[in-house]
Amino acid sequence: MSKTNTQFAWLADRFADVQVLRYQIDGYEQLTPKQRILTYYLSQAALCGRDITYDQNYADNLLIRRCLERIYITCKPQETEQWRALETYLKKLWFANGVHHHYSTAKFSADGLSATFLAPLLQRVATADEAQRVLRIIFTPSEAPLRVNQQAGVDMVTQSACNFYQNVSQAEVEAFYAAQQRPNNPQPISMGLNSRLVKLPNGQLQEQVWRIGGTYSTAIERITHWLSLATSVAENEHQRRVIETLIEYYRTGDLHKFDEYSILWVNDTESKVDFINGFIETYGDPMGYKATWESVVNFRDDEASRRTQLLAQHAQWFEDNSPIDPQFRKPHVTGISAKSITLVQLGGDCHPTSPLGINLPNADWIRQQHGSKSVSLNNIAHAHEQASLGSGFEEEFGFSPEHIARSQRYGALGGRLHTDLHECLGHGSGQLAPGVQGDELKNYASPLEEARADLFALYYIADPKMQQLGLVPDIEVAYAEYDRYIRNGLMTQLVRISPGGCIEQAHMRNRQLIATWCYEQGKDNNVIELRQRNGKTYVVINNYEHLRSLFAQLLREIQRIKSTGDYAAGRDLIERYAVRVNPELHREVLARYASLNEAPFTGFINPRIVPILSDNGSIIDARADYSEGYTEQMLRYSQEFGCL
Ligand code: ZN
Repeated sequence: MSKTNTQFAWLADRFADVQVLRYQIDGYEQLTPKQRILTYYLSQAALCGRDITYDQNYADNLLIRRCLERIYITCKPQETEQWRALETYLKKLWFANGVHHHYSTAKFSADGLSATFLAPLLQRVATADEAQRVLRIIFTPSEAPLRVNQQAGVDMVTQSACNFYQNVSQAEVEAFYAAQQRPNNPQPISMGLNSRLVKLPNGQLQEQVWRIGGTYSTAIERITHWLSLATSVAENEHQRRVIETLIEYYRTGDLHKFDEYSILWVNDTESKVDFINGFIETYGDPMGYKATWESVVNFRDDEASRRTQLLAQHAQWFEDNSPIDPQFRKPHVTGISAKSITLVQLGGDCHPTSPLGINLPNADWIRQQHGSKSVSLNNIAHAHEQASLGSGFEEEFGFSPEHIARSQRYGALGGRLHTDLHECLGHGSGQLAPGVQGDELKNYASPLEEARADLFALYYIADPKMQQLGLVPDIEVAYAEYDRYIRNGLMTQLVRISPGGCIEQAHMRNRQLIATWCYEQGKDNNVIELRQRNGKTYVVINNYEHLRSLFAQLLREIQRIKSTGDYAAGRDLIERYAVRVNPELHREVLARYASLNEAPFTGFINPRIVPILSDNGSIIDARADYSEGYTEQMLRYSQEFGCL
C-alpha cells in the first residue's frame, strides 16, 4: 500500500447521513507527462456526463438543481435555520445526483425547510410554473416518492420515479422486450441499455436513444470532444481503437458497436491508464434494462496489482473447486484480468459515491468468450480506512476485546481480499445452462448476483489455498471478515435505513439475505448467536467452519437459480430473507450508532486535474490539485459541465 500522509485533509464535508472525503492520486508523479495529459482529457470527458445522470435519475432533477443553486449563489446567505436547511438540502441533492437518496432511492424529506421560506426565493430565479413544480416535488411526499420501486406486486415502471420510461406500464415494457428477444442468439445485445422507452400519442412504443443527434446529444457531444482529444495521446494503437470505437458508439447509439467496444476494452490489459465512460450499470432501472451514465478514470497500481493478478492466474483452480453443481462450473475460464488501480477521477453515477471494485463488461457472452476486467480501487479503499480509524465503531459493536483486536489487526486486509475475490473471481464464475438467456431473474437479478459474488468471496477467503498463495497470513483474517460481514448483514448496515423502512438496495438485500439465511440455517447448531449484554445486542459466531459450509450451501443454490433462471426460487429467497427489518433491533442499532464519530454513507470529491500549458498555449502536462471543497466543486461542475 502506498504511503500514509497524515497531514492530508481526508474529510472534506459532513452533513445529513454522509461524509465526503478526499482521495489522493498516489503515484501520479510517476506517470509520464503524456499519460497525465491523457488522464486530463479523460477526466474532462468523465465530468461532461454529469447532467445525464441527474436527468436519468428523475426528469425534474436538473430544474430543481438549477433553481436551488441560483438561490444559493445569488441570495445573501443568512444565519437562519431555514437557510441552513436549504444548504443541507442542496448538498444532499448533489450527493445523490438528484432529489432521491442515492442508496435508499427514497425522495428526501424537506427536513426543516419550509415552503413559505422557499417560495419567494424561487420566484426570483424561476418562472411561476417552474417554482410551482419545484415546491410540489420538494414538499409533497406522495410526489415521486421512490426513484426505484421494486416492491413485490407494484407496477415497478409506473411506480418508480426514474426517467427511463414514459407513459408505459411494466407489462408493456416486458412485452416490448420479449418481442425483441431472439432465442438461442449466442451474442445477444444488451437490449434497451442506452434508451428511454416512450409511448407516443399514437400508442406506439419507441426507444429514444441516447446518442449524438438523439437524446442527451449536447452532453454526449462534449464527452466525445474530450475523447477525441484523448485519442491523440493514447498509449498505444489498441487503446486508440478502444476510444475511437466508443466515440463511434456514442455517434450511432448502435448496441452492437457497444459490444465491439466492450471486447476491445476488455482486451486492453497493457495500457497503464484506463477508463470507463458510458451507460454501464442497470441498478437504477427497476426492470434492469437501462443503464445509468458513469465514468471512472484510473491507472494501474503495479505493486498492489500483484495480489489480484495472483488470484486471476489461479482462476481455473477456484472455478474447479467451487462448491456449486459441476455442470454450472466454467470448463475454461477465459482471460480474467485483475488489477488494483489508482483512481484519478469519478464521474456521473460513480460520483460522489464511488464503488470499491468494478467488474466489467456486464454482457454474459462477452465475459464467457473474452473474459472480464476486474479492478479494485486502491486509493479509495485507503481513504475509507484512514477516515474510519478512531470512529469508535469496532469498540461499540465488537463483542469482546479479542474480537476488536482481531478486527483492528486483520479487518482491512480481510475487507480488501473480500473485494478482490468478489470482483476478480466471484462475478466471473459459473455458467448458464443451455437455453438460459440471463435476464430471467428480472428485478431479483441484482441482489442475487451480488450474493453469488459475496458468497464466492466468503467461501474462499477461509480456504487453505489462500494461505498457500501467500495472500492470507493467518486464518484469523477470514474470521475477522466473517465477524464483520455477518454483523453487518444482521445488524450494522441498518444504520443506512430510516426508522420504519425496509431494504431496497441490491447490495444491502444481498448482505441481509446471506446473514439471515445462515443465521436461520445454523440455528440448531448455534452457529451464529445474537447475544445480549447490558441491553445491547452482539453478533457472535460460534463455529466458523460450519458457517463456511453454510456459505457453500447457499452459493450452490444461488448459482443454480442463476444458471437455470429460476425466478420463483430467487424471488422467494429475497422476499423471505432480504427485505424486512426487525424494528426493535433497528432502533437499537440507530441509537448506538448515533454516538459514534462516523456517517453511514461516504462519498468523495475529485482532485482537480489541471492542465499545464506551454508559452504558446499548448498542453504539455497535467497536475492534481486538492484544494477544492465540496460545495465549491459541485457549483463549479454545474457551471462548467452543466449542459442539459
Ligand atoms: Zn458486485
